[in-house]
Amino acid sequence: MDAKKVTAIVTRAVPYGDTDMIITLVSLEEGKLTVTAKGCLKPKAKLRYATEPMNFGEYMLAGRPERLVLADCAQIDSFSPITLDIEKYYASALILEGLQKLSPESQPMLFKHAIEVLKALAYEGKGAEEGVRDFLLYALRDNGYTVDFATCNSCGCVLDGEAVFSEKDGIVCPHCADYQGVGIDSYTRAYLSGEDNIPTTLKNKANMTLSEIVFQVLGLRLGKHYFTEIL
Ligand SMILES: [Zn+2]
Repeated sequence: MDAKKVTAIVTRAVPYGDTDMIITLVSLEEGKLTVTAKGCLKPKAKLRYATEPMNFGEYMLAGRPERLVLADCAQIDSFSPITLDIEKYYASALILEGLQKLSPESQPMLFKHAIEVLKALAYEGKGAEEGVRDFLLYALRDNGYTVDFATCNSCGCVLDGEAVFSEKDGIVCPHCADYQGVGIDSYTRAYLSGEDNIPTTLKNKANMTLSEIVFQVLGLRLGKHYFTEIL
């Protein structure tokens, strides 16, 4: 039986049978992995913490690649303060969902950025909306798609007020836009270029626009649940 060690975070956990769990890990080294955690639903299971979503650690895995089994885990962090704040909890659920969907293979940059955002949410006072915004921007940038909300991608003018996004042109001023783009209002544009001082409802609207851009560029609908909960 082979054994291997990966640095990973739990993105999903479902009970299996009477006492087992099936966990989805996203690892720095290999991207998404599905792992059986035997006996982890027993009351005194030693590795139960290692099956909790958002647990981050060094995972020892045994078994064949198509049937990995959890052997041990050295916890690095559980980001537990996040679970005390419902808004941050939903934000982190979106981050875990996004990381998992975007990591069929290893995505080292996005992995590190996701951990950074979770840390900032847990310990550095980052707000839930800023966590979602930052993660979605990393999702674009770490997949090679540069988004610049400060200058028109077509004529190069400094954006001030509204802008328009299309997959073909990127983010452009209203003069350069064709009629099929996604409209970006001035609050949204300011927020997505780093201005945090706007009302929460407008932040959420900005994040929905950003998730639409992610959908058009990467083909992934992220945070469907998140955006339903906050409305
Ligand atoms: Zn322009």
